[in-house]
Amino acid sequence: MKTKKIYLCAINNVLSGSCSEDCHFCTQSARYKASIDRYRFKSINQIVSEAREALSYGAIGYCLVTAGKGLDDSKCEEVARIAHRLKREFPSLWLIGCNGTATKEQLRELKKSGIDSYNHNLETSQEYYPKICSTHSWQERYITAQNVKSEGLMLCCGGIFGMGESQRDRDSLVFAISSLKADAVPINFYIPNPALPIKECSITQSEAIDIIHKVSTEVVSASIVMVAGGREMIFGDSEVAMYEAGANSIVVGDYLTTSGEVPQRDIDRLKSLGLDIAKECNA
Ligand code: SF4
Repeated sequence: MKTKKIYLCAINNVLSGSCSEDCHFCTQSARYKASIDRYRFKSINQIVSEAREALSYGAIGYCLVTAGKGLDDSKCEEVARIAHRLKREFPSLWLIGCNGTATKEQLRELKKSGIDSYNHNLETSQEYYPKICSTHSWQERYITAQNVKSEGLMLCCGGIFGMGESQRDRDSLVFAISSLKADAVPINFYIPNPALPIKECSITQSEAIDIIHKVSTEVVSASIVMVAGGREMIFGDSEVAMYEAGANSIVVGDYLTTSGEVPQRDIDRLKSLGLDIAKECNA
């Protein structure tokens, strides 16, 4: 395969679980009582030490995730405090906030504290969204994504595939992401959990490849096409196919509430495919 750079990004779920929303795909919704760790904000020292570890295995992007529908003043303050400390400790680390719906003022605050990008996924098409969430609207999500762009943060915006949506929904989601001029697109595949209302993942590997190809050719603003949650489940030993289809980024380490591949195995695999690991993020 032609050599290209692969961007590694790590996720830290700094506040987990106990969300009052009803997103049918999410183990962090308190309604479904999924068996996951639920905790208030991790200590800042723990986050710093986890970020150091992520850097040691090549992560150049670091995503600070909080459960819940969106930011309030105290959550915004705490994420800003964490970002400020991480930027001081690791100036080259590209920081991504992923904290739900956010106002322009809150996003401005995060940007000032050192957040470089904000991740807010549309999750699925506008048409299918009411089937997977009844407690907030797709439109609200779209507005937050617009706020991210208008405040001059990089927009990381993608979705989850395999939740029972149709081909038309998939096309509609990619079109919406494109209309936002997203800078990075995380593509997730639904990971079933017996506690959740969506019982199975409805996407095949070849459909997943088509989606990666579609995103990488149609979302022309995006310099990063990331395969995130569900990568191991969908691709197994066939990851070369996702890079050939246009992916140039993966999540390393664990996901929000599920385990990921051992980072060293990912690094070894990339080397064996002749792919370089990017040393800095210029999304
Ligand atoms: S708002 Fe976020 S944390 Fe809450 S249930 Fe939905 S996806 Fe999960």
